[in-house]
Amino acid sequence: MNLARALSVNLDFIVCDEPVTALDVSIQAQVLDTMRKLQDEFWLTYLFIAHDLSVIRHISDRVAVMYLGQLVELADKEELFENPQHPYTEALLESIPVPDPRVEGTRGVLEGDVPSPIDPPSGCRFRTRCPKLIAPPEYEFTQKEWANARRFLREVQRRSFEPTDKADVEARFFADARPSGEAGRIVDDAIDRITSDDWERAAELLVESFAEPSICARQILEYEVPTEYGTSPHAAACHRHRDDVVGGLQE
Ligand code: SF4
Repeated sequence: MNLARALSVNLDFIVCDEPVTALDVSIQAQVLDTMRKLQDEFWLTYLFIAHDLSVIRHISDRVAVMYLGQLVELADKEELFENPQHPYTEALLESIPVPDPRVEGTRGVLEGDVPSPIDPPSGCRFRTRCPKLIAPPEYEFTQKEWANARRFLREVQRRSFEPTDKADVEARFFADARPSGEAGRIVDDAIDRITSDDWERAAELLVESFAEPSICARQILEYEVPTEYGTSPHAAACHRHRDDVVGGLQE
């Protein structure tokens, strides 16, 4: 009905905001097929907004991924689905259910709440939930140490565990790699605060020391990344694509 109304005034460009969201799957398929036919017949361009990745894959030629009101990745459909380059896009694609009961393993689920768009985080808006936050350059982390420190920070913010003592915290988070030097002292201090039941100050210390100095918290830029499928440009707003960032650590 809405499409017929749009076509009656001879439009070239139509914004379709969640046009099939509330529909049954079989009706969705019919509507999408009709839209495809009308697109071919009238040379239409759609800006198609949806949360359902299977619908996006079915209807789109080029896909833009948004997080908290900002574009984070832009690429042709096949390139985006087969070669995602932003951690948020990667998480979205990992969360697609596999319709096969023989497939084992859990789907990736993003941790943490979506921040308020009225007061978004500084720099990259995804940084408070990003599993690949880049280490601040002032500490000498190995990749494993940084991965453990990052997980420790997230879990302390969420108060997701109940430690019995310091050794328990060490075993949970740093059994295989523990930061040393200044970063190690900060971890020590945070563990002391947790075991004294001062979670708030422990979280503040870790955020101030490890999250806020990260380049991810200071600025965000868009980078063009190599395209593997097709020839159209592929852009991702993630500092992991800077030349001086290797495996989540700044050189
Ligand atoms: S810029 Fe940093 S926080 Fe943002 S997506 Fe990239 S690694 Fe994650």
